[in-house]
Amino acid sequence: MTEKFKVLAADKLADEGLDYLRSQPDVELVNRPGLKEAELAAIVGEHDAMIVRSGVTVTAAVLANPGRLKIVARAGVGVDNIDLEAATARGILVVNSAEASTITTAEHAFALMMALARNIGPAYKSMTEGAWDRTKFNGRQLSGKTLGVVGFGRIGRTVAERALAFGMQVVAYDPFINAASAMDGKVAMYRQFVDLLPLADILTFHVPLNEQTRGLLNAQSFAKCRKGVLVVNASRGGVVDESAVIGAIDAGHCGGVALDVFEHEPPAADNPLRKHPKVLLTPHLGASTVEAQSAVSLDAAVSCLTYLRGEGIHGAVNAGGLRLDLDALQLRFVDLAQRMSKLISPMITRGVASVSFEITGQSLAAAAGTIERMALVGLLQGHMDVPLNIVNVKHVAEHRGIRLQTITLDSTGGPIAGGPAGPQLAIVVKGPSGAVDGTTAAGDETRRIVGRVYQDMRPRVVEINRYHMDMIPAGCMALIQNEDRPGVIGMVGTEFGSAQVNIADMAISRRDKTALMVLKLDDVPPQSLIERLRGHDGILKVAVVKLAAEP
Ligand code: NAD
Repeated sequence: MTEKFKVLAADKLADEGLDYLRSQPDVELVNRPGLKEAELAAIVGEHDAMIVRSGVTVTAAVLANPGRLKIVARAGVGVDNIDLEAATARGILVVNSAEASTITTAEHAFALMMALARNIGPAYKSMTEGAWDRTKFNGRQLSGKTLGVVGFGRIGRTVAERALAFGMQVVAYDPFINAASAMDGKVAMYRQFVDLLPLADILTFHVPLNEQTRGLLNAQSFAKCRKGVLVVNASRGGVVDESAVIGAIDAGHCGGVALDVFEHEPPAADNPLRKHPKVLLTPHLGASTVEAQSAVSLDAAVSCLTYLRGEGIHGAVNAGGLRLDLDALQLRFVDLAQRMSKLISPMITRGVASVSFEITGQSLAAAAGTIERMALVGLLQGHMDVPLNIVNVKHVAEHRGIRLQTITLDSTGGPIAGGPAGPQLAIVVKGPSGAVDGTTAAGDETRRIVGRVYQDMRPRVVEINRYHMDMIPAGCMALIQNEDRPGVIGMVGTEFGSAQVNIADMAISRRDKTALMVLKLDDVPPQSLIERLRGHDGILKVAVVKLAAEP
């Protein structure tokens, strides 16, 4: 018999996953939770797979001598405890089990919505205090109400299905779904958050936290909501601006807010949200059910074996397990494609209708498919929580109605000395060109970025949105669009200086009375600095992107 796959359970896992592994004839299970970093590092290389929860930190030191290790599976969602860069560098695939907690989290959001509508929290509290008040807690019925689902991914859809079964109308906002309606026409889709606000009696949030979703529901958006709107956030803390909640309730814009997630977890003991009678709080319980724990344990075990047996990849968080059989120049363009797409990803604020790749140079033709997929991962990953990789990304994009097109243009072959000819990659992302829902104002959002690899094999970005430049995309970068007038550059320099963030390099390009500054920074700037810059007169847009170090 061939050698068995050795699977290390390095964290305490629910029995379902362990029992499954024990039942497999080609598996030897090593169940050793609670090892220290050095102990784990010493034995990890003897195993083909390792399964962890959040209790083990998989550092670069743990992965330094990976031996036969091919996959690390996280039984759960967050992979903050795994050094993804180290795993990727060693060709180790990292997977998570995000899907296993979808229903559990959707049910929690639903429970919060019901509890909010019927005042279950304050009514229960009054009972524990000896009261019997039957008028104070008059609630609201869900049937007939309109639920606005913000983020129509796995959890958002699961909440929507349940809401429809409760006789609710459902409308949804998700700029990354290119369709006018969903669920057989039962859910009207909106491409702009502001269009959803006046329609919903209840809003529920199911988006990742990123530049576009931070503070999505804030004082201004609360004011555009239906009077008395109820709000549920079981996605990520910060999507609903905590500082706006009490004001919106006291002003009568909002009838109550239920939060499972917070800007800082745990929130401070004296956080006023904890005491407010119209705020219902749970301590990040979205995924905390017996069923979800069993499901993530089983899911992680199955993912390991599927991969080890060569049957496919499930829930990959990196693409570390994939070999790219390309020559050096092609590999450079694959890497550049990912850098370029990450760089423009934060500029995509109104969704993606189509992505075109213009690949110039026959020498790149063989790599076109890989370039396309790598770029899509960079473009879309920041906007969704589904782990994307070059295996699944095309499927995910097509499933969302995003049109993809690759044009290969003929040109000279090899690397260039800097002249106009030679291989080149342009990525063109188009936002929705008109009103998908019949009400949204038309507005075409086209983003274009062009990159090259010069003779020194270093990657360059030569154009962003018709601003021309010559810049190596690597490390922490800030993109600042501003009015092209005196004083702005000085102000930006002063702001970075006073925040102790060193500007290592700077490229400036101008057109149509505006300019684009691309700064290379030695450190990640604090959020407060970004907010301050955005508040300055003359600054139009600010985005910060963290790219890998120069290859
Ligand atoms: P998902 O990736 O399947 O769905 C997220 C959706 O948000 C995607 O459809 C994406 O297109 C959409 N989106 C991205 N940017 C948007 C924007 N600016 N405006 C509107 N929509 C936008 O993820 P999921 O599995 O459904 O998870 C949703 C959220 O729930 C995530 O933030 C996840 O971390 C969180 N979560 C919380 C718990 C908990 O314990 N409370 C448990 C699991 C997941």
